[in-house]
Order: sequence, then C-alpha cells, then structure tokens
Amino acid sequence: MTTTDTQPTLDQRVRLFIFEHFAEHASPPVVEQLMTWFDLARPEAVNVLNGLAEARHVALVKGTARILMGFPFSAIATPFRVLANGRTYFANCAWDAIAFHAMLSTEIAIDSFCHHCAAPIRIEMRDGRAARVDPPEAIVYLALRPTQWWEDIITTCSNTMVFFASPEHRDASDLSAPPEEAASLTPDEVYALGVPLYADKLSMDYRRPGIDELRAHFASLGLTGPYWQI
Ligand SMILES: [Zn+2]
Repeated sequence: MTTTDTQPTLDQRVRLFIFEHFAEHASPPVVEQLMTWFDLARPEAVNVLNGLAEARHVALVKGTARILMGFPFSAIATPFRVLANGRTYFANCAWDAIAFHAMLSTEIAIDSFCHHCAAPIRIEMRDGRAARVDPPEAIVYLALRPTQWWEDIITTCSNTMVFFASPEHRDASDLSAPPEEAASLTPDEVYALGVPLYADKLSMDYRRPGIDELRAHFASLGLTGPYWQI
C-alpha cells in the first residue's frame, strides 16, 4: 500500500482551473485571470500555458497566449454544439462532441451537421451509449490517421473529424479518403474510444494515457487494423 501527499504542481492546478472555467462558462480563462488567481507574472503564466499546449492539454491561437481549445472544449463557435447540465458548449470536432459524455458523466445532446450537405444531425448520449442518433445512419468520420493528428492539431480537429448523415454522404464528400487511411465509426464506438482520454479531465490528477496504454485500449476495442497502428 502506498500513500502520496504530493502537492499538485502549478501546471496541474492551472490545467484544472482552465477546464473548470470552460465547464462553468463555456469559455476559457484569459492570461490575466491566471496571473491574478495564481499570482504569476505574465511571462510565468504564458510559460505555463505553453507547457500545457506542449503536453497536449490545450491548443493556443497561433502566435498568442489565447486558449483556443481545451479538449473537448472550443473557445469559438463550431458546428459541434453540445447541450449538457443546462449549458451550451462548443466542441472542437465530432469526436470531442461525443467525448463530453465521457468527461461530464451526464446526459448530453449534440446538435451538429452533415459535413457534406449540412443536414442537421442530432445525437443524445446517456449511460455510456447513444440513446438517439438522428438520422440513424449518421457516422463519425476521422479523415486522418492517428499518427497525423498532432502534426497540426488545430487543422485536424477543425477540419478532419466530422459527422456525415450516412456513408453515402461521406463517399460524396471531398474529405473522403481511402478506407485504410480513415475511420468511419458509430457514436458508441467513438464514446468507448474516448473514455480513457476524457473521463478524468475535471480532476486534478488527470494525465493523458501514454502511447502503450492507447495501443492496448485500441486493441481492447477491436481496433487493430493498419489505421490504428500508432
Ligand atoms: Zn449529408
């Protein structure tokens, strides 16, 4: 039996502050709030933000210290609107929209669009599964391989992880890639995929799973094809 009385690091405390702020206000805090709350000079606060971006907790607007993404939260309007706990949030992508259910452990409703034709797509997640998918053939499409996601996460999240109303609309879209280079998933599959990455986001101890843990997780879900090799 081990006990730990380690105090959280500044990075951990700032990360949690950002995510709690997003959860409460549906928008991120600004640098000045971090400076005030944590008693930091501007360069120190900016340094922490850059570290959190490096560790893949947030993405900043290029060339600034402004928080654009705190996965799954988006600071700006997107086609992935999520209603939960009486609030309206924007997610960064289709995957992130579904991940709100893993993060909040409460029922959510997603209002989104077909990336091809802009038809409305509505998905409700409850108790770890999709309770409603409308239209029923709607899919989540990941147009890049996992090994490419972090080459430019803002582009990946903003442009390549989307909903389609049906496989036919995927195939008709400019985004459609050869099957071995992309993934088409159900909302339930995307939920399961996201659990280890998102479930503890609102706790101080959150850490991103390592690459071996992610490989084991993909395999446990039967995602073993070439696309899932990371
Ligand atoms: Zn469509």
